[in-house]
Amino acid sequence: MPIATTDPRTGEVLRTFEELTPEEVEAAIGRASAAAADYRLTSYDDRAAWLRRAAELLDERTDELAELVTLEMGKTRASAAGEIGKCASALRYYADHGAEHLADEPIDAETVGASRAYGRYLPIGVVLAVMPWNFPWWQAMRFAAPALMAGNVGLLKHASNVPQTALAIEQLFVDAGFPDHVFTTLLVGSSAVESVITDSRVAAATLTGSEGAGVAVGRVAGESLKKVVLELGGSDPFVVMPSADLEEAARVATTSRTQNCGQSCIAAKRFIVHADVYDEWLGLFLKAMSGLTVGDPMEEGTDVGPLATEQGREDVVALVDAAVADGATLELGGETPDRPGWWYPPTVLTGVTEDMELFHEEAFGPVATVFKVGSIEEAVTLANATRFGLGANAWTTDAAEQEIFVRDLEAGQTFINSMTASHPAMPFGGVKASGHGRELSAAGIREFTNLKTVWIA
Ligand code: NAP
Repeated sequence: MPIATTDPRTGEVLRTFEELTPEEVEAAIGRASAAAADYRLTSYDDRAAWLRRAAELLDERTDELAELVTLEMGKTRASAAGEIGKCASALRYYADHGAEHLADEPIDAETVGASRAYGRYLPIGVVLAVMPWNFPWWQAMRFAAPALMAGNVGLLKHASNVPQTALAIEQLFVDAGFPDHVFTTLLVGSSAVESVITDSRVAAATLTGSEGAGVAVGRVAGESLKKVVLELGGSDPFVVMPSADLEEAARVATTSRTQNCGQSCIAAKRFIVHADVYDEWLGLFLKAMSGLTVGDPMEEGTDVGPLATEQGREDVVALVDAAVADGATLELGGETPDRPGWWYPPTVLTGVTEDMELFHEEAFGPVATVFKVGSIEEAVTLANATRFGLGANAWTTDAAEQEIFVRDLEAGQTFINSMTASHPAMPFGGVKASGHGRELSAAGIREFTNLKTVWIA
């Protein structure tokens, strides 16, 4: 994939970038490694002050940065601005709470025969982050804010279709006053990732992206015995039981499935509805989905813009067309508009069965599949009939049913009567093929630290 800004509304290539040479990458790792030696000695107070300054700069730059995001990957300006605001909140969260999350862990000295003992969280050094384009600021900041607060140094290999945003992220940290080379964007393609991970000066890697990329990065990290966090795909279930507020569930389902033009790992993708309320809920959902405004993401009032890439649209078209050819029913959408750019309409299918690829794969676009079930047991079984395990939503006001969903849904996060969302204060991550490790909260900042046991006689 060339490193370029391509307008998803038209398919026009607006700007291309030269990839760094292997020698340039090598030199950048050298500078990052040298910076890490000093940066680990800076205080939490200094790091918090730089994070707070970065948050202020983000607030000041929201408009221009949001426009760039929309230009590079097609999400609406309003959602791009919201994403940047959320990044500022993550920077402030770790400025406020990072030191407390990394406070020494008490160990009972008498039990271990010491005069004093404790666990200390120390930085591990240079960490490579391989990031996707779908939330190009948020995904990168989920890594950067805790990593920098913990005293680590970051290398960012961003997705090839968001190079200008990738450079703006590096510039933010430079302008916020972080020491030189503490955060570096490497404009490289995915083939350069292996050599960065295997470099002895790089301590660990984190990847947010597809399963295939996760396997590739996990393999290389495993072979070089380096810590890795993987945040991969999802095919989140959204279960609607008879006691649910059906209108609210239909409204939230529509938002969850179509925000970011359906290109969110934690979007609800499979809607599993109890037979007692199936017809009514499906009617409400179709009404809400068909009421969305599809159009220019730069314009106010647009709900759904184009998909981010040509390949992404091809994948969605292939999944839907194959399911329809095999007997699934198109309740809404499903036709690719004949116009330049990577447009695809909000689409709803029923009658999707296990022999169809769409049943098993992550549909990374505004495509919903709706299923009817007769019981909570059937709902849980169908919800778990996927190799993914990122988020899960269940709608019920029955406390006993809520407990069953919390206990039995195979997911890194379960939201009851809401859609899955991330927040700096909540752990975020998946199980099964959705990856391993956690971002955000105390768990996230501790992932890339050395919890050193200290024992003093
Ligand atoms: P992707 O193709 O896997 O790309 C993600 C990043 O990985 C990009 O920087 C990409 O670089 C790089 N990459 C791709 N193949 C690689 C390889 N073999 N070795 C090393 N790096 C590689 O994913 P995407 O299409 O951009 O993003 C969508 C996927 O991300 C979806 O599956 C979505 O669910 C998942 N996602 C997960 C989370 C989460 O938190 N769990 C959040 C957001 C998205 P290039 O751009 O240069 O190819």
